[in-house]
Amino acid sequence: MEKTDVVIIGAGPVGIFAAFEAGMLGIKSHIIDILEIAGGQCSSLYPEKPIYDIPAYPQITGADLINNLLKQIEPFKVPFHLSQHVTNLEVVAESFLIKTSKNLVIQARAVVIAAGSGAFVHKKPPLENIESYEGKSIFYTIQNSQIFNQKIVAIAGGGDSAADWAILLSNIAKKVYLIHRRDNLRCLPESANKIDQLITQGKIEKLTPYQLGAIKGQNGMMEKIILYDMNNNPKEIKADYLLPFFGLSAELGPIYDWGFDIEKKNISVNFANMQTSLKGVYAIGDVAYYPHKLKLILTGFAEAATAMHDIYNIIFPDKPLHFEYSTTKGIVK
Ligand SMILES: Cc1cc2nc3c(=O)[nH]c(=O)nc-3n(C[C@H](O)[C@H](O)[C@H](O)COP(=O)(O)OP(=O)(O)OC[C@H]3O[C@@H](n4cnc5c(N)ncnc54)[C@H](O)[C@@H]3O)c2cc1C
Repeated sequence: MEKTDVVIIGAGPVGIFAAFEAGMLGIKSHIIDILEIAGGQCSSLYPEKPIYDIPAYPQITGADLINNLLKQIEPFKVPFHLSQHVTNLEVVAESFLIKTSKNLVIQARAVVIAAGSGAFVHKKPPLENIESYEGKSIFYTIQNSQIFNQKIVAIAGGGDSAADWAILLSNIAKKVYLIHRRDNLRCLPESANKIDQLITQGKIEKLTPYQLGAIKGQNGMMEKIILYDMNNNPKEIKADYLLPFFGLSAELGPIYDWGFDIEKKNISVNFANMQTSLKGVYAIGDVAYYPHKLKLILTGFAEAATAMHDIYNIIFPDKPLHFEYSTTKGIVK
């Protein structure tokens, strides 16, 4: 079991900035996220889009904002526990036990929930027995593209992720199928043009309009995929791997069961300190509710500062907080 001062649930922009505020106050924190990358909505939903309302940045992409936030917390060496869902929160004496889907247990004196609109999960195709193939021949994210070397890879989806991976894997795999239920892809026009070139060169075969129907294989390793066209006519293709890129959905899930006051599907907080109805547990960012709440990144940043200044009193009960500007104290490592 790990021990720290504060556990931050959610590595979105607001969760990351909360770790910065914690560090500046000498509070140790750990961050947990179900996704395999930090950045929440900015990294997963709009990494390339410019954001125009971050103070002092006339424009900055979602990805660059997250990279800058990660750079800003570097001095505090905050441990990230990614690819795991926080499933349990238990109150034990004066502290909390936070448990994850990977059996990580962290004891902390306070908890900050920065869960956005909930834990992001990959949307799965409705295929029978899909679980037995997941992690063996079906992947929703790619950690090591070399496993596809000289293999037959079927990519399903019509968005940017499907297009980007089809282009990238066309140089590695023996064959890449791109399966989509519509003839036109929804990706950037440059990617669609590149895919057309690769189709002409025989490196990608586009199968549209088709939907996934079934997988055939043994011990989690697929051999064939059955597709259906819009008139329900089947088509069988040989494939070693299936990569479905159908986007993400968000669910607050177990957080609803932890006994907080919930308002409009978000966690009610006291706006003065961002504390929830459970003492020692705070909510900030998109997940926090109070009247006239604005779900903006800049609002979440201010909420992170408010919450951490209140948490300081829990972590250092005998050391009164003397408010100081960062310009005065610098970065205290
Ligand atoms: C297309 C788009 C454009 C936008 N443009 C702007 C803009 O221009 N300006 C602006 O201010 N805002 C914009 N937003 C909104 C902005 O992205 C959100 O306000 C911001 O991401 C909220 O940050 P957050 O850290 O609170 O939550 P999120 O970014 O949602 O991050 C929450 C994280 O918590 C994780 N999580 C949740 N529950 C659990 C759990 N139980 N266990 C583990 N992990 C968990 C999730 O996986 C996620 O990574 C935009 C949003 C979208 C979708």
